[in-house]
Amino acid sequence: MKLNQMKVIDLSHTIHSDIPSWEGGCACILKNLSDYDDSNAKVKFRIQDISLPLGLGTHMDTPAHCFKDKKTASEIDITNPIYECVVIDVSEKSNANYLISKSDIKEFEKQFGFINENSIVLFRTGWAKYWHNQHKYRNNLQFPSISEESALYLNEKNIAGIGIDTLSPDTINSEFEVHQIMLGNNRFIIENVANLELLPSTGTYLMVLPLKIQNATESPLRLVALMGGQA
Ligand SMILES: [Zn+2]
Repeated sequence: MKLNQMKVIDLSHTIHSDIPSWEGGCACILKNLSDYDDSNAKVKFRIQDISLPLGLGTHMDTPAHCFKDKKTASEIDITNPIYECVVIDVSEKSNANYLISKSDIKEFEKQFGFINENSIVLFRTGWAKYWHNQHKYRNNLQFPSISEESALYLNEKNIAGIGIDTLSPDTINSEFEVHQIMLGNNRFIIENVANLELLPSTGTYLMVLPLKIQNATESPLRLVALMGGQA
């Protein structure tokens, strides 16, 4: 890939103490352990500490999030951390109760071609527009989500994982079927994806590198899409 032709799109939300979370409320605490002016030394430092639920902001659910013996964040294989990616846009028709159907995916394939093995399927529901309003984005954990049938269909295609611009591909009113199907088959889920309106439907790559934290079942991601480069 020619690096100077490559465009990088940041698909991560900024993490701070006032962003939406599954549990609701303030979830991230960043504090200064010592500050620039705390010492008279010539070289000054600000040293910080963070308390951060691993499932906050743009993050990965690893298979171990639901299954005891499956892969954790430090065990995710990063031999090839750059995946082909497609964006299925249902934002025009979606609403808080919208369930992305298998026919939405088939319609996409009819228009753009079949989804390849080992790719990542990102769903743009448009819900990210509420990101700056915790209450509305969380919406008592009811937001656009993905049907079981869709997850089964994608699972058959042997994709690497899915991503969505909501708190989860399953709502509180589901049996968490999408988590069960994806994570149960060693695929990952990326939640709270940002800026999906900046990506074309096909032709981009996604770099997915979870933090290498031992025994972590979820991990924040600086999720980036790479586009425009020549392979
Ligand atoms: Zn999840």
